[in-house]
Amino acid sequence: MRMSQYFLPTLKENPAEAQIVSHRLMLRAGLIRQTSAGIYAWLPLGFRVLKNIERIVREEQDRSGAQEVLMPTIQSADLWRESGRYDAYGPEMLRIKDRHDREMLFGPTNEEMITVLFRDGAKSYRDLPKNLYHIQWKFRDEVRPRFGVMRGREFLMKDNYSFDVDKAGAIHSYNKMFVTYLRTFARMGLKAIPMRADTGPIGGDLSHEFIILAETGESAVFCHKGLVDKDILGRTIDYSSDLQPIVNEWTSLYAATDEMHDKEAFEKIPESERLAARGIEVGHIFYFGTKYSKPMNAVVAGPNGEQITVEMGSYGIGVSRLVGGIIEASHDEAGIVWPESVAPFKVAIVNLKPDDGAVAGACGKLYDALQAKGVTVLHDDRDLRPGAKFADMDLIGTPWQIIVGPKGLGAGKVELKNRKTGNREELAIDAVVAELS
Ligand code: ATP
Ligand code: MG
Ligand code: MG
Ligand code: MG
Repeated sequence: MRMSQYFLPTLKENPAEAQIVSHRLMLRAGLIRQTSAGIYAWLPLGFRVLKNIERIVREEQDRSGAQEVLMPTIQSADLWRESGRYDAYGPEMLRIKDRHDREMLFGPTNEEMITVLFRDGAKSYRDLPKNLYHIQWKFRDEVRPRFGVMRGREFLMKDNYSFDVDKAGAIHSYNKMFVTYLRTFARMGLKAIPMRADTGPIGGDLSHEFIILAETGESAVFCHKGLVDKDILGRTIDYSSDLQPIVNEWTSLYAATDEMHDKEAFEKIPESERLAARGIEVGHIFYFGTKYSKPMNAVVAGPNGEQITVEMGSYGIGVSRLVGGIIEASHDEAGIVWPESVAPFKVAIVNLKPDDGAVAGACGKLYDALQAKGVTVLHDDRDLRPGAKFADMDLIGTPWQIIVGPKGLGAGKVELKNRKTGNREELAIDAVVAELS
């Protein structure tokens, strides 16, 4: 992408309405704009990041065997009357009437809808297990929308729902998602810690929140330090095998959110190993058995014709919240430092002298060569002074910058800068292309 043609409205000043760093940087780097309270439009750069996060979430869901569907954003109130949650949900639900005066709502979550879809489609125990997910916009009329996309009213969530014939099967489905979530967040460069959590309005008795540590987090959290650097990506996971040993490895060390905190248990950990911090909830998994299947009559026929009420779980990831969460975890005073897996572009080419034919030619050659290798590139071909370009590039935070100027080119070299470490290296054009592809 040529920056001279890109819709990338960056801001020099810190916007007054933004209280936390990720919100400030998302506005300044031109990722999002607020269109009304807690509702955001995604501009080209931000949309690319959102899509990258979505892709990782999707790949890991698919890897676990979950199947993608797409349910609507608008739901009928009658669906929610079946589960008894229509009145219970309260003012966070945006209730709407259509022209025929039918009561509708903008879905805050999809347990009811998926339960009906499953009930109408599955008849026999042979149809189980199933795990269905979708990535869809939700609306919750939060009392205090704030911190940009971290607590929006409209937000993108991946939610999925598992169906099993018995509790053992449901726990296996839960464990699959537990491990899937560990992998998903690790691939985004995040250290997300699963913590025992309260089940809240979703209900049920087994639940973990996945929390990333950040001073600006809204929850107080308590855990054993050993959990912070535990690695999942180095292992080969067979999702059909018993995953309980892996889950136990993570859950045997203390970790709980405020609501579930057990001071006595926490203080049994040696003091140097205790971590009391603040965290951001990026994912949440629940096993809730027959809480919805029972009132909504989601039953299948068992091997002997008996009726089995299916065992369910639900699992959410805050896809749009993650954009802010990743920035909270990865930035410096100059701007965003994107992990490569979610970066809007891997490389930025900074042309120091756009009116110099040789420099422009070298930039064009680099751009084409990188694109041909499938590397995403943002080419800063704008007619601006170098200082302004450097500031913008550090703000935007592509993992690599290639700086091309007349002096270096005279010696056949360009400069490769790593955004995270600040390391700079002089290399020939071909060597840069080889290094980045
Ligand atoms: P919170 O405690 O932050 O209000 P929640 O517990 O109400 O979140 P869940 O019902 O568990 O949220 O939804 C699953 C995920 O959706 C959350 O883990 C979070 O990442 C995301 N999420 C929830 N509410 C919002 C919101 N208002 N804006 C952005 N993401 C959200
Ligand atoms: Mg909430
Ligand atoms: Mg919560
Ligand atoms: Mg939650």
